[in-house]
Amino acid sequence: MREVLCIACARHSSATSLLGFRRPRACPGCSQAAAGGPGQPLAAAASPSSARVAPSASILRNPMSLHEIPLDARIYVAGHRGLVGGAVMRRLVAEGFTNLLTATRDELDLRDQAAVDRWFDARRPEYVYLVAGTVGGIWANSRRPAEFIYDNLMIHATVVHAAWRTGVKKLLYLGSSCIYPREAVQPMAEGALLTGPLEPTNEPYAIAKIAGIKLCQAYRLQYGCDFISAMPTNLYGPGDNFDLESSHVLPAMIRKFHEARERGDAAVTLWGTGAPRREFLHADDLADACLFLMREYDGDGHVNVGTGEDLSIRSLAELVRDVVAPGLAIEWDAAKPDGSPRKLLDVSCLHALGWRHRVGIAPGIAATYRWFVDELAKGSVRGIAAPEAVPTST
Ligand code: NDP
Repeated sequence: MREVLCIACARHSSATSLLGFRRPRACPGCSQAAAGGPGQPLAAAASPSSARVAPSASILRNPMSLHEIPLDARIYVAGHRGLVGGAVMRRLVAEGFTNLLTATRDELDLRDQAAVDRWFDARRPEYVYLVAGTVGGIWANSRRPAEFIYDNLMIHATVVHAAWRTGVKKLLYLGSSCIYPREAVQPMAEGALLTGPLEPTNEPYAIAKIAGIKLCQAYRLQYGCDFISAMPTNLYGPGDNFDLESSHVLPAMIRKFHEARERGDAAVTLWGTGAPRREFLHADDLADACLFLMREYDGDGHVNVGTGEDLSIRSLAELVRDVVAPGLAIEWDAAKPDGSPRKLLDVSCLHALGWRHRVGIAPGIAATYRWFVDELAKGSVRGIAAPEAVPTST
């Protein structure tokens, strides 16, 4: 496949457009300069033909980004009790936003279009953070592929459709770095999307996540919706899921080391060889990036969100061990799958837009472990059953 580079910095390959042709365009970081600076209008209600003649007009900074989103704007955080949603809520509250709209899964099943339509009609959100989904590690993905594809396809489709129907001013959709091909050149730039076969262990999830990007692009192209997509790397932090059957690697390690220490074990056995390399971003950093992109980015292309730094799973395990249970031995169960050999995002577009992560991996793990211990004492860690109340003798 022919690769087209960013017309401004000549570094990033362009994505194939919805219309199936590859077009010269600027990467997000360069689009402002390429388009002649700020102040250009968004491609409102863009028709396919307008996209052809003025491709760069769809990757502009919003002139509104020079202004803050009003603090009393109605902002819906879909998935507000999750790792990401919780961090976005904390950040919005800290910034002084006063009109935050939420609904738990029991109150609103986001897979149900009619229910989502009714909710949007009643609440009329102006801004939407679409950070809900069925999420999990290799084990959960391999055991529940139907749930991973169906739930996520439906959640993305119902929310995007309702947002368009009710005139939401801006929506941020969160995908995942799983969208990129298994053998993608590292670090993975935005243009690597759809350039090769996906990692088989999470292909159904990845297909749903890619469909979310395409939904946002299609509603932008046909209806002029200001819907943007961000692709975060692996996340961790307070509020994560610690259920060993559905958790991601980092919370699973924290729990395993903690429980091994409590039992007085000499060693912990971890899945795989420890050789794959991964990148980790603290959820508070991701929330910061989400608010930043909401204000500063209006492009049709998705934007990678990560640290741009990776480490081996073996090094990660040693970091967690040193925080949670220093001295414990680590054994590797190489019969279990490793997943992709390396997954590192190219975050130069995000850096060019002006955002960088702040939380380092070692302090981030230490802070997450402190949170874990505090919440465990209260019996409120997701994925770990609260201990039975001890009956008091009378
Ligand atoms: P969590 O599992 O922590 O949270 C998911 C949230 O989605 C929960 O609040 C849950 O609601 C809500 N939800 C799920 N299904 C439904 C449904 N049918 N109806 C209503 N609400 C629903 O996930 P994360 O915060 O980790 O992930 C958020 C997003 O970030 C996802 O899109 C995921 O793909 C993406 N992402 C996550 C990564 C990670 O490492 N965690 C990495 C890359 C991307 P409730 O609390 O009521 O059950």
